[in-house]
Amino acid sequence: MAPSPSSQPLQDITRRGLMLVLSSPSGAGKTTISRRLLDRELGITMSVSVTTRPMRPGEVNDVDYHFIDMPEFDRMVEAGELLEHARVFSNCYGTPRAAVEKALSGGRDVLFDIDWQGTQQLAQNARDDLVSVFVLPPSGEELERRLHSRAQDSAEVIAQRMAKASDEISHWAEYDYVIVNRDLEESVSAVQAILRAERLRRRRQVGLPQFVRSVQEAL
Ligand code: 5GP
Repeated sequence: MAPSPSSQPLQDITRRGLMLVLSSPSGAGKTTISRRLLDRELGITMSVSVTTRPMRPGEVNDVDYHFIDMPEFDRMVEAGELLEHARVFSNCYGTPRAAVEKALSGGRDVLFDIDWQGTQQLAQNARDDLVSVFVLPPSGEELERRLHSRAQDSAEVIAQRMAKASDEISHWAEYDYVIVNRDLEESVSAVQAILRAERLRRRRQVGLPQFVRSVQEAL
């Protein structure tokens, strides 16, 4: 049967974007999972945070982070330009609000690599838009091995990260989903499955009533 002019294919139903947060202790594989997810899924973009920490070799300004100084960070906090912000180690991090709001209202999803402090703030301010995933390492020994194999960090930074890892892990139960990253491919598939199911939540499909009406009118 030919579609009537008012009928709308399912994929065109207007949808509000969601905020997909991936948190983990550093070294659990979150960054690799994020990259693969972005390569495979259309309609999702990475939130680029601001940070006051120095740029690491290989990082690109405005791609990995917007690297800013402390006065600029304070100004953004004062002006309400950050959706959430936190101090991690001795540095400050935050999520610029404008880019996220634009994406969500345009029906695009946003992926966040932020810590538990930021996730708690998003849960307080935007629970309906938030889907949070915690990535655990397969074991403590494996996490330690991965932290040591990161060439770019000094021994002092590694020690700091180990301490921070156990703090980060203590917040695992605050997340909607928990993945143990035993196999990278399986973990990426699991995050894809979460994203696809969460996109179908009724409350996110804001164009659904209109679509259902068009279906009913044709009956
Ligand atoms: P790194 O300095 O290794 O890139 O990140 C250190 C930690 O800061 C990671 O746990 C990362 O998830 C977290 N982080 C990065 N950007 C943000 C942000 O905008 N907000 C919060 N709350 N945490 C962030």
